[in-house]
Amino acid sequence: MMRKNMLLVSGCLADIKCRYDGEAKPCEKVIRLVAKGKAIPVCPEQLGGMPTPRYPAEIKGDKVIRNDGVDISEEFKRGAQEALKIAKLVGARTAILKARSPSCGYGKIYGGSFSGTLIDGNGIFAELCKKNGIEVKTEEEI
Ligand code: SF4
Repeated sequence: MMRKNMLLVSGCLADIKCRYDGEAKPCEKVIRLVAKGKAIPVCPEQLGGMPTPRYPAEIKGDKVIRNDGVDISEEFKRGAQEALKIAKLVGARTAILKARSPSCGYGKIYGGSFSGTLIDGNGIFAELCKKNGIEVKTEEEI
């Protein structure tokens, strides 16, 4: 049975070591939501078929580029679509996603120069959520 108000959350916020560097970014509030059965963790980049650890990547224009120059846009798009499928399956209306990530970031993301510079924009998955009527917040806003 579908739960009411189920949330979708970035896996790394739920202490899953799915980040490019093989680590997590645990957020206590998110962990508690998952533990209470109120949130489902997903990692769009892993769902896109990418390994962990993996090359860091940033959005540059309309592409996602690894730090070795390889265009990895298709994997990011595939992962975003698969994660959206999970959101729809559980009826999620809100997603709490990891700030500044090229998949999950919302409002501000790294700018494509791998120098820590931030630009206005959304990660590939966050943008897809928005287009599909799912409200997006970062862990810094909850
Ligand atoms: Fe975390 Fe999202 Fe990056 Fe996966 S894609 S590691 S869930 S920020």
